[in-house]
Amino acid sequence: MLTKKLLPAQSFQLLVSRNVGHLSRQRYDVIVVGGGHAGTEAAAAAARVGVDTLLVTQKIHTVGALSCNPSLGGIGKGHLVREVDALDGLCGRAGDWAGIHFSILNRRKGPAVWGPRAQLDRQLYRDFIQSELLSTPRLTVLEGSVEELLLTDPNPDEPGPHRVSGIRLANSGQSISAASVVLTTGTFLSGSLFMGQTTSPGGRIGDAPSSAGLSHTLRERLGLKVGRLRTGTPPRILKDSVDLSLAELHPPDSCPTPFSFMNTQTRCKPEEQLPCYLTRTTPGVEKIVRESLHLNCHIQQDTKGPRYCPSIESKVLRFSGRSHQVWLEPEGLTSDLLYPQGLSMTMPPEVQLRLIREIPPLHRAEIHTPGYGVQYDFVCPTQLSPSLQVKNTQGLFLAGQINGTTGYEEAAAQGLWAGVNAARRSLSMPQVALSRTESYIGVLIDDLISRGVTEPYRMFTSRAEFRTLLRPDNADLRLTLKGFELGCVSPSRYQEAVRVKNSLRDAMAALRAVSLSSTHWRERLPDIGLSENKMSKLTAMEILQHTDTTFEMLASVFPESFSPYMEFAQRLRIEAVYKYLCDISRRDIKRIQKEENMSLPQDVDYFSLSSLSMEVREILDRYRPSTLGAATRLEGMTPAAIQVLFQYVSIAE
Ligand code: FAD
Repeated sequence: MLTKKLLPAQSFQLLVSRNVGHLSRQRYDVIVVGGGHAGTEAAAAAARVGVDTLLVTQKIHTVGALSCNPSLGGIGKGHLVREVDALDGLCGRAGDWAGIHFSILNRRKGPAVWGPRAQLDRQLYRDFIQSELLSTPRLTVLEGSVEELLLTDPNPDEPGPHRVSGIRLANSGQSISAASVVLTTGTFLSGSLFMGQTTSPGGRIGDAPSSAGLSHTLRERLGLKVGRLRTGTPPRILKDSVDLSLAELHPPDSCPTPFSFMNTQTRCKPEEQLPCYLTRTTPGVEKIVRESLHLNCHIQQDTKGPRYCPSIESKVLRFSGRSHQVWLEPEGLTSDLLYPQGLSMTMPPEVQLRLIREIPPLHRAEIHTPGYGVQYDFVCPTQLSPSLQVKNTQGLFLAGQINGTTGYEEAAAQGLWAGVNAARRSLSMPQVALSRTESYIGVLIDDLISRGVTEPYRMFTSRAEFRTLLRPDNADLRLTLKGFELGCVSPSRYQEAVRVKNSLRDAMAALRAVSLSSTHWRERLPDIGLSENKMSKLTAMEILQHTDTTFEMLASVFPESFSPYMEFAQRLRIEAVYKYLCDISRRDIKRIQKEENMSLPQDVDYFSLSSLSMEVREILDRYRPSTLGAATRLEGMTPAAIQVLFQYVSIAE
C-alpha cells in the first residue's frame, strides 16, 4: 500500500498563522497569488527550482480545494496529470493518495488515448497538497488577499513596457517585493455567484472574490484585454436520501492504476474502492428547466459557459427531448454526500429540489448544498508568451482559470510551467517553452497563446497532432530528464526515470535479438496465430507488434532473455505496438520543426501581401506571430495563407 506520513492539518494552520502579519522578510524571489490547483503547483515548482517562494492565498484551509467535481484525470486530462507528475508536480501523487475509485477511460481505443481517471476523497486530496507544501523547503505560505500588483520601471534589457515588482496585501496594506509574481486567481477575479435570481460577489461559494484593485491593475494600469466566462456546479445530495438500487452500478477497475510514475500502488486497496452509479434525466427534468428559465439569471446571460461540462439548462435548450446521463459519484470514503455529475444548475434552490426528484433514484433526495453558477474575468491568453509571462509586463506570469481554461488538470499544468519560469526569471535564467511535439502541456499552452479562447478551454486528445508519441505511459521518458535539467525534478525521480529508460532500451534490444522461424514460434506458442506459409524469421519484437502475444507470454518461453523486464511488460507492449507509427511521427516532426521555426519578422507589412484575404491580413497584423508555426495555429488561418507566408519567408531568408 502507498504510505506517506501526512502532517496533521493543524500543523499547516500553525505554520501559516505564525507567518501571518509578521513575515520574516519583505522580499521573495517568487510570489504566487492563489492556492488552487495552478497556484499550489506553481509555488511548489518555483521552490523546487531553488528560489525563495511565497504563496499568498485568501483562506489557508482551502489550499488544494476541489471547487467542483471530486475527480482527477480523464480523457486528455489524464495525460496532463501524468506530465505534471513527470515534472515532479503534486497532483498525480495527491490523486494516488486521495483516489477512491480508479478507472482507465477509453480502453476500447489504443493506449495512446487512454484516460487515467480517479474519483477522489476531497479531504484526503486537500490534506495531501497542504502536507506537501508544508514540507517543501524554501516555500512559505501566507493567508491574505492580494489587493494590488506593485509596478516599477521596466528593465531596458527585457521586452515590455511594464515591470511587476511585488504585491500589496489588502487589510494590512503590507508590500512584499519579488522578481516574479504568478497570478492564479481562478474563478475569483471580479467573480459573481448566481443562484436563481440572486447574484452576489464571490469566487466560489463561501469565498469572497478577488479584490477590485487586482482587476484594476490588470485592465487599467497594464492595459490587458480581459474577458468574461462562466461555469457552474451541481447541488450536493445527501447519500442516505438516494435509492441507488434504481441506478446502474459502475465498479472501479479491479486493479487501480496509479497516476504517479513514483507509485506502484494507490493508497486505497482495490477492494476498498467505492462504486459510481449511472442514471438518466426524464422528461420531467426538461419541463422544470423550461418552466423556470425566467427565474434563472445565470442562464439568461450571454457570457460563454463550458461547452464540455454544460449545465442541465444548456443541455435541455440545445438538445430538446433528449435524456441526459447523470453520474452519482461519492465525495469521499466517509462522506455523506453524492456528487451528481451532469446536473450543474443555477435555478432557485426549491426548483433544484423539484428537478432532481424527477430522476428515479433521486425521487426522495435531499439537497445538502444547492448548485450555483459563477462568472469571472479571465485575461485573454494571447497576451502571454510560451513561458506564461505576460508579454507586456516583465515578471508577471498567469496560470490556470485566469487564462480562460477550465479544470484542475489544465490549471495544474500551467501552474507548474509558470512556476518554473518565474523561478528562472528570478535567477536571471532564460525562459523555457514546451513544444506541442513533446507534451500535452505544450499543446495546451500553445493553443492558449496562439489561438486564445472564446469559451472555457479543456484538454482533449484530439487537440494533439502527435498522439502516438504523447502517450500517458511515456510522459516520464518525455519530460523527467528535461525537468531535471531545469531543476524542478528531484534526484530520486531523475534516477528512477534513467533506470526506466535504460531498462526499456535493453528490453527492446533483447526483443530484437530473439529471432525464430514461424514454425519455431508456433511450436513454442501454439496459439500465436501466425500463418503457415511465413518462411522468414521473425523477432520477438515483431511477434509483440503484429500478434496478440503479450510480453508475459514471451517471457514464459524465453525467461532468461525477458524475465528481468517483467515490471515493464505493459509498457514494452505499448512501445512495440506504436514503434512504427512513432518513427513516422518523429520524421514528420523533424520536417515540421524546420518549417515551423522559420521566423516571421516583426515589421512585416501584412496589408501589402495582396494574395492574402483581408481577414487573414488583419489577423496577422493583430497577433504578429514570431514564426511560421505560430502563424499556422492562429484561428482563421487557412492552408492557402500559410503557403503564401511560407513563400514569403523562403524568399526573405
Ligand atoms: P482555483 O482553484 O479557483 O483557485 C484560485 C485560488 O486563488 C483560490 O484559492 C483563491 O482563494 C485564491 N485567490 C483568488 N484571488 C486572490 C487574491 N487576490 N489574493 C490571494 N488569493 C486569491 N472545472 C471543470 O473542469 N469542470 C467544471 O464543471 C467546473 N465547474 C466549476 C464550478 C464552479 C462553481 C467553480 C468555482 C469551479 C468550477 N470548475 C470546473 C473549475 C475548477 O474548479 C477550476 O478549473 C480549477 O479549480 C482552477 O484552478 P485555479 O488554480 O486556476 O483556480
